[in-house]
Order: sequence, then C-alpha cells, then structure tokens
Amino acid sequence: MTDRIFINAVAADGSPLELAVRDGRFSAIGRHCPRSANSELIDLEGQLVLPGFVDGHIHLDKSFVGDRWRPHQPVASLRERLAVEKHLLSSAPPIVQRADALIRQAASFGTFAMRCHVDVDASTGLDNLHAIMEAREHWRDLIDIELVAFPQAGVVSCPGTAQILDAAMAAGAQVIGGIDPSTLDGDAEAQLAIVFGIAERREVKIDIHLHEPEQIGIAQLQRIAERTLALGMQGRVAVSHAYALGEVTPDEVERIAAQLARADIAIMTNAPGDCAFPPVLQLRKAGVRVFTGNDNIQDAWWPYGNGDMLQRAMLVGYRSGFYTDDDLYVALHMATEAGAQVIGKTDYGLKVGNEASFVVLKAPNGAAAVAAAAPSARRIVRNGQFWVSG
Ligand SMILES: [Zn+2]
Repeated sequence: MTDRIFINAVAADGSPLELAVRDGRFSAIGRHCPRSANSELIDLEGQLVLPGFVDGHIHLDKSFVGDRWRPHQPVASLRERLAVEKHLLSSAPPIVQRADALIRQAASFGTFAMRCHVDVDASTGLDNLHAIMEAREHWRDLIDIELVAFPQAGVVSCPGTAQILDAAMAAGAQVIGGIDPSTLDGDAEAQLAIVFGIAERREVKIDIHLHEPEQIGIAQLQRIAERTLALGMQGRVAVSHAYALGEVTPDEVERIAAQLARADIAIMTNAPGDCAFPPVLQLRKAGVRVFTGNDNIQDAWWPYGNGDMLQRAMLVGYRSGFYTDDDLYVALHMATEAGAQVIGKTDYGLKVGNEASFVVLKAPNGAAAVAAAAPSARRIVRNGQFWVSG
C-alpha cells in the first residue's frame, strides 16, 4: 500500500510538520516522516494543520441558512420569541433542507462533529428530531452529530413534554436537554427530577440550557451538581450558557466552580454578544471543562453566525480578553479537543493510529488562526483524502 505523506505543513504551535497516512489512518506524524520510493508526497506549502473543529452547541432545526434572509423581530418576552419562531418556521423550507445547507457550510469550514439541540415538545412531537436524523444520515461519513432532545418551551409548564422527551430518547437521541428550571418552568426540582430521571433510566447524557440570572442561576448549578453526584453521572452532564457565572463575584464563582469540578460538569459558552458569560480561565483553573459552540445561527433568535467554529473561537477570545498566545490556544482547545471530549468523539486528533482527518488553512500557528479567523481557502482532509464539497 502506498503511503501518502503530507509535507511542508505547520503544527498548531508553529513548528514544521509532516503527516504520513496509510489506509486512511495516520501512520506517522512528526518533523520528518520516513518515506519510500513509492510514497506519494503532497506539499501543503507551509500551511497550518489543525484537528477538525467540534461545534459543541448548535440548533440545526432553527436556522434559515440556505433560505432567504429574515430580518430579526424584537420581542418583549421569551414566550413571544417562541411564538415568532413558530410563525417564521411555519413558512420556511423543510428542516431537512435547511439543516443540510448549514451542515454543508459548517463542513466546508472544517467542522467534524456537532452536538445539536433539537426542539421537542407536545406540539412538534418528534418531527424535528426525525428531520435532523434524516439530515444527519446524509452527512454520516463526514460529520458526527450528537442529538439533544431540547424542551425549548419548558418541561413542567408545557404539558406532555416529559413523555415526548422520553420518547425522543427511545427514538435515538443521545442527550436529554433542559431549560431554565426556575424562571421558565417555575419548579426547579420538578424539571430536574424529570430530566435526571429519564437520563438515569435511559442511560443518556444531560445538557441543560441555563440562562437564569445571578443567585437563581448559581442555585440551579448547585442543584444540578448535587443530582449529578447522587446519580454518579460525573462527566456526563453539561450546562450550556450558565450566564450567572459571569454575573456573580469571583469568590462566588470559585465556590460553585469547585462543585462543578467535583461533579465533572462541563460548561458550554458561545460568548454571546449582549450578556455576561462564564469566566473561561477561572473555570478551567478550577478544573472545570469548558467548551464552545455556535448556538443559534441566522434564526428567529438572532441574525448572526455562519457556522464557522474558528470564528466562534475568535469571539470567545475577543469577549474574554484573550491576548496572549496561551490564552488564544485555550479558545482553540474549546473549539476542538474540549468539545470532542464532551460529546465522546473518539478516533479524533492528530495522533498515530487515528483517522487521518484534519483542516488545512493559511496561518502561521493556532493562536494566529484564532485571532484572525480567515474563512477563505480552507481545505479539509478526511481519511487522507481532500474533501470536495458536492
Ligand atoms: Zn441553544
């Protein structure tokens, strides 16, 4: 079997790199890979090589990417937002079509895996879930998509949702979602009992949207940590957003971070534009895993985004005040390895024996790639072959 050797590449730390591939897997990685007369050499012309990006939080069923531009409509409440969303989606092309367009775009930027939250409630039932499963099937050779059954409209306050969540798990969703147990549902213990109960019975992971403010949010994190430890679910629970961590004092963050680390609860932030968000470095220092994702992309919730995880890493760094290379590498880690760990993606990364998949782009190193996040001219290699968007 002929080796393919990608030469004249640059590693994330800026050092020279070669990557040898045999049968679609890395057979050697280093400054210089052994080669024979039959080796096929592919010159990467001094470009940077990174592992594929992992979008740890995306809503493929909501986006209008691939559809016409829809101007944002301001609203006065969450319930009003949900009504606007239902109205806009009712006249949009089918979910499969829109999801396909967004997955294609994300793939072209170098995303290799996603955790996708899909709306399930008593009125939509499992329709969105089945549509996203269909889109996932189209892309199964290129992108791993983990599905979260997401009760966008609440659990306790939206009758029938608990049964639909359970049905979503039976249908193949891998993660059960939750949302603002106190401020949306008005009964934190009741929502958490349902979510953790289904997770325990179905042996699935948990990822809860938590936008609750200050002490309400901190108390919620405390409850989630206690239930996680009680069920021995360490490493299987994530909280998305957790705005409260960006609103309380550093001492209070320190206290709750210790609880989160003990329960190994991962925190997802997309560094949203108009509100406080978790202090990434303080959490990591306390031993909390922090990852990132795009969240909403051109949908009824906000007009921003294009699915590029390198741009998301830049936004995380920008809003976090990351200037040094060390800090920029943290943002890159959040968009790659940290997300891969949370969704349980194995066979990932630039290691001998792994699937020979990576992203090639123009930048002197990983820190510079995050800081500038140039979207142009990225090349995607899967199993040792350049991927061409069809
Ligand atoms: Zn979300």
